[in-house]
Amino acid sequence: MKAMVLREIGRPLVLEERPEPLPGPGEIRLRIEACAVCRTDLHVIDGDLPHPRLPLVPGHEIVGIVDALGEGVDPARLGRRVGIPWLGHTCGYCSYCRSGAENLCDEPVFTGYTRDGGFATHVVADSDYAFDLDANADPVSTAPLLCAGLIGWRALKKAGEGRAIGLYGFGAAAHILMQICAWQGRSVYAFTRHGDEAAQRFALELGAKWAGPSDLPPPQPLDAAIIFAPAGDLVPSALRAVRKGGRVVCGGIHMSDIPHMPYSILWQERSITSVANLTREDAREFFPVACAAGVTTRTRAYPLTRANEALDDLRNGRFSGAAVLVP
Ligand SMILES: [Zn+2]
Ligand SMILES: [Zn+2]
Repeated sequence: MKAMVLREIGRPLVLEERPEPLPGPGEIRLRIEACAVCRTDLHVIDGDLPHPRLPLVPGHEIVGIVDALGEGVDPARLGRRVGIPWLGHTCGYCSYCRSGAENLCDEPVFTGYTRDGGFATHVVADSDYAFDLDANADPVSTAPLLCAGLIGWRALKKAGEGRAIGLYGFGAAAHILMQICAWQGRSVYAFTRHGDEAAQRFALELGAKWAGPSDLPPPQPLDAAIIFAPAGDLVPSALRAVRKGGRVVCGGIHMSDIPHMPYSILWQERSITSVANLTREDAREFFPVACAAGVTTRTRAYPLTRANEALDDLRNGRFSGAAVLVP
């Protein structure tokens, strides 16, 4: 198999030829069709997240066909198209796992972080954490749903039932969530980097009610705001944009420091929370919703061997939507 490997933090990925991995008990092997590139991959590669497994194959938005089964896996899964997300395994017995919060598991395994992921031609995964996908699904356009879609969905649940939703950072996650919000009849206010008119136009094309730079107040107070951009200075901006009792949800795994801010912008029962990982229950809810809402993704496909270019383009905001690697 071929894999793009992180050997050293902060260094470009290196193409390696490796023996094809064999699935262990309860595991499946996929022939990968597509793997989307997530901002979390950048955080892993850049060393923003502690203790990645090294050497590591990054990538956790994987779509592929099951081509080998480990002991104890339902034989019907052979040949199926499945998706592998960030949540690779949970312990099943810690207090979080037992209370329906497996996303917070004390002993989790994460795809493309603490076990090898999908920037490769093949990957082995725990079969219990692989989602069956539509046999007719297009692998490239489906891949971004596996993290950008799922995390966006979890963030929206945290945001509550409000009708006026602000999205800060209009990348892969926001462009999917925008479509779901519109389908639910909510009004979306899209905040982008200053001067990023392409992203603002993109948001308006997808049905945003308003789009503008993140330092502008929205034309009306928001019920909730979700921050996907990894910039801590957006937290006070978002708090100022939400109404009394409004919520601010931080959707990223890493963020720069949140600046000092006056208590008055939090007061009146505004709240800040974050989203961590996903549960399999999130996926059971999300995929039917995405299908009903007719979500389409805007993708830019790169050959697997050009993973470094895709990561660089994401880092520099060179495209709208999601980058996807194709072996
Ligand atoms: Zn656990
Ligand atoms: Zn991700």
